[in-house]
This record gives sequence, structure tokens and C-alpha cells, in this order.
Amino acid sequence: MERETKCIQAGYSPKNGDPRMIPIIQSTTFKYDTSEDMGKLFDLEAEGYFYTRLQNPTNDMVAAKLAALEGGTAGMLTSSGQAANFFSVFNIATCGDHIVSASTIYGGTYNLFNVTMRKMGIDFTFVDPDCSDEELEKAFRPNTKAVFGETIANPALVVFDIERFAKAAHAHGVPLIVDNTFATPINCRPIEWGADIVTHSTTKYLDGHDATVGGAIIDGGKFDWMAHADKFPGLTTPDESYHGITYAEKFGLGGAFITKCTAQLMRDFGSIQAPMNAFLLNLGIESLAVRMPRHCENAQKVAEYLSGHEKVAWVTYPGLPGDKYYERAKKYMPDGTCGVISFGLKGGRAAAEAFMKRLKVAMIATHVADAHTCVLHPANSTHRQLTDEELIAGGVGPDLIRLSVGIENVKDIIADIEQALG
Ligand SMILES: *Cc1c(COP(=O)(O)O)cnc(C)c1O
Repeated sequence: MERETKCIQAGYSPKNGDPRMIPIIQSTTFKYDTSEDMGKLFDLEAEGYFYTRLQNPTNDMVAAKLAALEGGTAGMLTSSGQAANFFSVFNIATCGDHIVSASTIYGGTYNLFNVTMRKMGIDFTFVDPDCSDEELEKAFRPNTKAVFGETIANPALVVFDIERFAKAAHAHGVPLIVDNTFATPINCRPIEWGADIVTHSTTKYLDGHDATVGGAIIDGGKFDWMAHADKFPGLTTPDESYHGITYAEKFGLGGAFITKCTAQLMRDFGSIQAPMNAFLLNLGIESLAVRMPRHCENAQKVAEYLSGHEKVAWVTYPGLPGDKYYERAKKYMPDGTCGVISFGLKGGRAAAEAFMKRLKVAMIATHVADAHTCVLHPANSTHRQLTDEELIAGGVGPDLIRLSVGIENVKDIIADIEQALG
């Protein structure tokens, strides 16, 4: 199936007389005839559902659709993008381990890694995604367990060189995890370029309508845990909490990561997406292939307008010829990147604040990457916890305005910007 068709049909094939639409299984629990039947589920000997804290059929149908879109072998939904990124790392790294991450990642993920996960004893080395091979090589340690980056960094709009980082990760026997939130599988499939695990904040384009917070993890099914068994004991040695199952043996390359993540992390943390939210997410995904080209087309026009304006100091949009990442974006995302643009005004931080107050169509919101055009000043909001040095290292200077171009008529968006620039 092509991407457009997968958006509509993947993940659920109704049988004779079944509901046409993915049904919402709004039930905490599931009934069995015998305790033996249920016991098999607890032992991971049979497939099925017993409690929605771990797994729910609605969620699994939507996760299967996302796995199909990303070209993965298995997927799961989480309650948020934060939960997805946390699980993706914590599923393979524990106290005493180390992760190499691109420095230009979403502020929330940076904080999760740099503050909260450090408290759990996991160490991180942040590298400039455009660092030299030597610097990248130096970032690895014997206890490194994964490499992490974002296809298009939010909000720095750095395009990640997936192939290069995948090669480096694999040379050190560890997987590459890529947060593909901004590109979506319509514009980029990181697994095709060597990524092993893909994560999403489904809150953004996948839902696309400001309706539900959620996340997803998809396994590419290619990383050979057993070939690096000493590094990943959680996958390659028996799990005593499941009667000695060894995930990599029992569920193979395609299933081990997601099964372990569900059986252990979802069981213990319970960061599950509500089935109702999964249903709404699915509605969003159904129109994803139609919405993404419109986002890109509108953003392209807005970026061109901004870069020709005398009051604008700089514009970053990977679709602009001359952008630092134009060529790399063409390679990884030939059909377009995303609807998000960042720019700065000649008057810096103060001019940004004044400009934003005058906008009428574009609304000030923490949100990004959905149907409604919205605007944000990260230094004053999402990235408030970061110091100026951290802001600059993360590619988010104090003057940066993040404009998320929606799918309204672009004439109205440009007219709004025009009057606000004054
Ligand atoms: C928003 C975002 C997240 C966090 O997702 P939530 O759904 O808000 O928890 C993670 N990564 C990227 C790239 C994001 O844009």
C-alpha cells in the first residue's frame, strides 16, 4: 500500500459485519472463561488483553497503522511524546548507562534527558548534529546504549543526518532512536535511512487538530540485540518478572523491543493513551497525507515572504534554497519538510514580543504543528528553564520566533504577518 492508503486503511481490517471504523474499546478490563486462559496472557504465552494500563485494542490498531506508515514491525501508543521518548531510552538504558544525543532537540526532551534522567543515573553527552566525525566518535563510551536525534529539530529546524548517525551508532553496536514528530512518516521514514526506533509526539501533525496529547514508539525490527547481548541484558537475559522469558529470543528482532516496553514499562509506569484519544488520533492520521503537503506549501510561501521583508533579520526554513539544511532536507524529505518556520526580527527579543501581540490570525500557543497557524517565543515559554548558553547551543536564540503555519488560506496568514510587522 502507498502512504495515502495506509493512512486510511492500515492497522485494522474489519471482517464480515465488523464496524467500518476502528472501534473504541472503552473498557479497563477484559473477561476470560478460566484463570488458565488469563494466566497465559500474564506469562506472555498468548496474545490478548487483560488490563488497559498495559494495552488496549483501539490503541494497538492505531499503533499498527503508524508502524505500517513508518515501515516498522511493531508499535505502541503512549500518553504523550514525553512518555514515548522516555520509554524509548529507558527500555534499553539504566542506571550507569550513557546516551549520545543531538544537542538540538525539543526543550522538553532536553530537560527530560539532562535533568530528570540524569537523576536516575543515566548520563548524556550532547553533540552538535553537525559536529566533526572525530567529535562524534569521542562522544561514545563503553557504556553507551543508544544515539538520539530529531529528524527536524523543534524549534531549531536542524535537519538530522540520519544515515551518518545510524552508521556511527551501529559501528558502536547501539541503536539509533529518531524522534520523527515534525517530518511525520509522510515526509520522512527514518527507518529507511538506518534508524532503529522511531518516536513521535502524536500531539502534533499526527493528531493535527489540537485535540489530544499522545505519543508513539515504532520499532524498525532490524537491530540485532543478541549480536550485542552484553550491552542489552534487559532484552537478552531472562526477565524474572515474566517467568524467565528472554524478549529477544521469544519475540525476535521484530517484536522484542515493543513487547518489553509494554510488559515492563507500561506495566510499571502506566503512561497509556486513553482509547478515546487513540480514536481521535486515528481520525487525524486519516487525513495526514492530505494535510502535510498543504502545510509545506503554505510554509514555503510564508518563509519566502518573510525572507524578503526588510524588518526580518533572518529566516530558517529547510525548504528555502540557501538554508543551511536545504540540500540535506531534499535528500531525506524530497516531498517537503514541515510547516514550522523560525525567524528573528531586526529589533531582537523586544521586537518579537511586540510583533506577536499584534497578530490576529496566528495565535500565541505553546502548541505547534497542527491545522491552526500558531506562534511562540520559546525563550519566553517552552525554553524558559534554559540559560542563554543552553539556548544558543540548542539552536534557539533569545530572539527566535517559532511560527507554525497551518492549513488556512495562506493569503490570510501573510496578510496577518504583514499588518503585525507594521
Ligand atoms: C512536542 C514534542 C515532544 C513532546 O511531546 P508531548 O506530546 O508534548 O509530550 C517531543 N518531541 C518533539 C519533537 C516535539 O515537538
